[in-house]
Amino acid sequence: MSTPLSFYNSLTRQKEVFTPIHEGYVGLYVCGPTVYSDVHLGNVRTFTSFDIIYRYLMHKGYKVRYVRNITDVGHLTDEGEDKMSKGARIAKLEPMEVAQKYTVGFHDMMREFNNLPPNIEPRATGHIIEQIEMVQQILANGLAYEANGSVYFDVAAYNEKHGNAYGTLSGRKIDELMAESRELKAQSDKKSPSDFAIWMKATEDHILRWNSPWGEGFPGWHLECSAMSTKYLGEEFDIHGGGNDLKFPHHENEIAQNAGSCGCGGARAWLHTNMLLMNGKKMSKSDGNTITPQQLFTGDSPHVTDSFSPMNLRFFMLQTHYRSQMDLTDDALQAGKKGFTRLMEAWSNLQGLEGLGGAQNGTVGKELTEGLAAAYAEMDDDFNTPKALARVFELVSRINALKGGQLSLKEVSKEILEEFKKGLGTLLFDVFGLRDEGEAAGASGETLSKVMDLVLDLRAQARAEKNWGMSDKLRDALNDAGIVVKDGKDGAEWTTS
Ligand code: AMP
Ligand code: ZN
Repeated sequence: MSTPLSFYNSLTRQKEVFTPIHEGYVGLYVCGPTVYSDVHLGNVRTFTSFDIIYRYLMHKGYKVRYVRNITDVGHLTDEGEDKMSKGARIAKLEPMEVAQKYTVGFHDMMREFNNLPPNIEPRATGHIIEQIEMVQQILANGLAYEANGSVYFDVAAYNEKHGNAYGTLSGRKIDELMAESRELKAQSDKKSPSDFAIWMKATEDHILRWNSPWGEGFPGWHLECSAMSTKYLGEEFDIHGGGNDLKFPHHENEIAQNAGSCGCGGARAWLHTNMLLMNGKKMSKSDGNTITPQQLFTGDSPHVTDSFSPMNLRFFMLQTHYRSQMDLTDDALQAGKKGFTRLMEAWSNLQGLEGLGGAQNGTVGKELTEGLAAAYAEMDDDFNTPKALARVFELVSRINALKGGQLSLKEVSKEILEEFKKGLGTLLFDVFGLRDEGEAAGASGETLSKVMDLVLDLRAQARAEKNWGMSDKLRDALNDAGIVVKDGKDGAEWTTS
């Protein structure tokens, strides 16, 4: 019997049993990357957390529409420059070239970490019309005003109409915001410092610009997610996710824009991942406190003493709950690497266990079944991967004991053993999204050796027929592929160069 899925909703600040709006279906929106530089490991942490959530929802039998956007306009630096334009200016490229380059890099990295692609990946620049329409709706509802070619969201008017709703998600009070924002750069066109731009007039040197009813400009960063989530998931949908650094102002403003345009709630549940730290500080592109995944793969960084594969890192991430901070240290990474190896060894041991004919299910069989059910139950409790992993490691001990003979296979019925293998495989590979890297390397080695047997047979046949042209062609092609063939008295042998 599976337990119901519940998770923590940041909007209501409590754990809730999940009931989708449409039975059997889930609409999931996650804020995607701003594609102006390489994705860092903090970003990967957030996207991997949501990948596991996506995978688990599918495992529970839901048909999920997972939308994750690409931010390629509107996200400004603290100095007020568009991050895309800044990236383009520095690299002397078209902003679209910058966006394309880092989008491709982002996708490659997602594949390395075995993160599944979303069902829809909309780009902000591909949805300017929808964003303009949303600004028009908000204006028509009297919750925004135009000033000098820009349009600002009127927080006070919104609060009056929507029962002081602004700040519900982030817990920020409007008075505090006023005090804080006064210290920021004065934006004189705003009626109040807490108002925010939903459309911005483009200055003369601003590259990314579109025609609008208010002149040439570009959308405010928060607007894209309101417009695209509404377009693809509807005015009300199930889950919205992102890193908790986006709660304010990004998500708070998204909620205000959704309510301010269609009067609708947007997402019912908000899920926020906690930050990845390095040396106790947030990993952030803008602060330069980052380590690239590539540096970890090769070990080429002063922060680490070893190399870590994508699956070492994925395993490392699974060890921390998505709502807790995760600190990247060399020691913790080493421990994760060992843990992953131990897990994969146990998995391989399990594959080697054959059920005994006539074995009756006893205590051991029951422990396997119950232990696995307990691991799944931890996932039902707010996607608790560290606790689920702890349950899995209790099972690892049993698997190894069965292999070592300290526990007896006589106590596990054949059917239960097969069911257990299947259930654990589903949890490790389909839900956690791990990949058995050793197995993949072993499989490709085996395949290569079979292919090489065939190629060397063909080459021997060509030589026997004095078909020197074919024989040379095969040798050259193998050389190009980094394979050296040597003829000895026992026939041809090959090595990789
Ligand atoms: P960005 O590309 O900066 O817009 O961020 C993409 C996603 O990564 C957002 O959901 C951020 O909240 C998240 N993110 C950024 N930095 C970190 C970090 N250090 N740890 C975890 N998530 C992060
Ligand atoms: Zn967003």
